[in-house]
Amino acid sequence: MSRAFFLPLFVTTVVLAQSDDTGTAHKAAATALLNSNNTGAARLACPATIGPAPTANSPAGPGRAGGPPGGRGAAKGGGRATPPKENWYAEGGQVFDNLYMLTTKTNSAWAVKTSQGIILIDTLFGYAAQDAIVDGLKKVGLDPADIKYIIVSHAHGDHDGAVKFLQDTYKPRIIMGPKDWELSAREADPPRHDIEATDGQKLTLGDTTVTIYITPGHTAGTLSVLVPVKDHGQPHVAMEWGGTALSGGTSKEMLESYISNAKRLKDISDGLGADVIIGNHTEYNDALNRLERTKARKAGEPNPWIVGKGEVDKYLTVVEECAKSWLAIGNGRP
Ligand SMILES: [Zn+2]
Repeated sequence: MSRAFFLPLFVTTVVLAQSDDTGTAHKAAATALLNSNNTGAARLACPATIGPAPTANSPAGPGRAGGPPGGRGAAKGGGRATPPKENWYAEGGQVFDNLYMLTTKTNSAWAVKTSQGIILIDTLFGYAAQDAIVDGLKKVGLDPADIKYIIVSHAHGDHDGAVKFLQDTYKPRIIMGPKDWELSAREADPPRHDIEATDGQKLTLGDTTVTIYITPGHTAGTLSVLVPVKDHGQPHVAMEWGGTALSGGTSKEMLESYISNAKRLKDISDGLGADVIIGNHTEYNDALNRLERTKARKAGEPNPWIVGKGEVDKYLTVVEECAKSWLAIGNGRP
């Protein structure tokens, strides 16, 4: 009986909170949805503290490991001293029949295996290219020479740092959002301009079609992707929200874009039946721990990456509410 009373009350509370368009209310709406599938994403997308002055939340403050959003690129791998390997190295691994996580402690890239080669999503910092991408692929039985496409979620150094090296070495085609090609052109050693992504672009390689959406907010040309995956032959769809971190320095225009694109991607993900969340920072959905659980998985146990459509929706709602929180604060409604 008590459960029957509790549930409608809870729903009513959330609806009321959302109708209250303040930074505090939107952050509370995000907070109400937090779990291990999305807490890290909220940590980078939501205001760390809610207060009247957005400047109190410095983009370079603690916990803003995603690099300064809003167009200013994070330092390139080649542009700063390479940290000692033990500080960043993490072992990757297979998470689906056709999907492999190539990772450092903080960032992840994804290799989609198709019948005609590899689609790589993101490339990590340049210093991780050899150990995490090249040797990482070999360790899972894949050949880096088979990389045919690289989709770059956005032109910050923790995701595009190794693009130039991989482009020069293996000659894959590179796909980036048009605005992020402009961003990458300002790098010290930029990749050669290649394919400009279009919204809703279907990239087919062999037996696999990945769909790309332009979802500006974290950068002006951020790409989000939907990837068909298989778990012991059973089809599922993985969703990656390509740019997550926000700060007091993110412009109103970018926040509005972030909000509308998060909403849009929810509808798209729902339509495609997305039930798996992947990300490009390991903390978004506790990815390193999830990878370890995947490696320890016994026959008959569920795949830890399959979280269900409701959790994909929740993930995007959390980041949307975080952006709404920043926007309300920026509009003087803390
Ligand atoms: Zn970034």
